[in-house]
Amino acid sequence: MNSAPSRVRQFASDNYAGICPEAWEALAEANHGHAQSYGEDTWTTRAADQLRDLFETRCEVFFTFNGTAANSLSLASMCQSYHSILCHETAHVETDECGAPEFFSNGTKVLLLPGSNGKIDPAGIERSVKKRTDIHYPKPRAVSLTQYTEVGTVYSVEEIKAVWALCKKHGLRLHMDGARFANAVASLGVSPKEITWQAGVDVLCFGGTKNGMPVGEAVVFFNLELAREFDYRCKQAGQLASKMRFLSAPWVGMLKNNAWLERAQHANAMAALLEEKIRGIPGARMLFPRQANAVFVELAPERAAQLREAGWRFYSFIGQGGCRFMCAWDTQPEDVLALAADLQRLS
Ligand SMILES: *Cc1c(COP(=O)(O)O)cnc(C)c1O
Repeated sequence: MNSAPSRVRQFASDNYAGICPEAWEALAEANHGHAQSYGEDTWTTRAADQLRDLFETRCEVFFTFNGTAANSLSLASMCQSYHSILCHETAHVETDECGAPEFFSNGTKVLLLPGSNGKIDPAGIERSVKKRTDIHYPKPRAVSLTQYTEVGTVYSVEEIKAVWALCKKHGLRLHMDGARFANAVASLGVSPKEITWQAGVDVLCFGGTKNGMPVGEAVVFFNLELAREFDYRCKQAGQLASKMRFLSAPWVGMLKNNAWLERAQHANAMAALLEEKIRGIPGARMLFPRQANAVFVELAPERAAQLREAGWRFYSFIGQGGCRFMCAWDTQPEDVLALAADLQRLS
């Protein structure tokens, strides 16, 4: 029997959190009468229009159930089966999608790049492209960046542009895994266009789930040519929701009055508070710069075990190891203080 206290909120992942009020209310509002199916409804049109307003450009928008599908299908839209996708060695597309990018692209190979703090070192792109140019090597065709990264760090505008420069030089397309894009925007204080199409991003997978929605990600194509027949790709992959309004309505709710950004700002602020507390605790070492809503800490294994016995849930398999404490839209200061107090007590 586990005698650990049950906790209402945890630090394991932002997908442990429930649905935030703005998304919930929009869902309730969408739940009236009948609406056209498969994305022909007004909620889906509105959500796509609001995303175009947010990014201040023409773009094609599709809604999928999850991030694995959004990433895999959008990467597949950029590549032929004999191509390769360059990404950081810790990237979700490599480590946490069970080979889906390769599967949905019929074999496009994912090639790994090094780089400190979870970010691609642009020199690695150059090396990987130049390493081989013969017909026996899977031809590099796309770069996938995670914004923010698997270790909680955020690419600056300049860093994305440095990657873009190499993409342009070598004819590579630029994909952004934005499972936590909202937190990245909140962290940088930029407008969404500055770290996407104005920095060369061809397609963005904009995460809704971890931002506070029940389910769903938006695939945003700034490169309109790549969006051609993407609807068929979604359908074939089982990602075309028949009651699409329930995938799209939460976006309408979240995009209204900037709720998406405020929820992300709050999660980031809770992580900043946790970082501040952890910095004062002996034997708890910050592993990466804390820039958004994830805090990575090195803890002695016994201490991590005791923390788990005290009822806390957190991950220790993400990125490059260490304990990951993730704040969500609903994390409260008292949650952070209770965790910090237990960390202190167990030191
Ligand atoms: C959560 C996450 C995804 C999406 O994962 P799904 O479980 O498929 O929704 C994609 N990329 C990153 C970096 C993530 O953290």
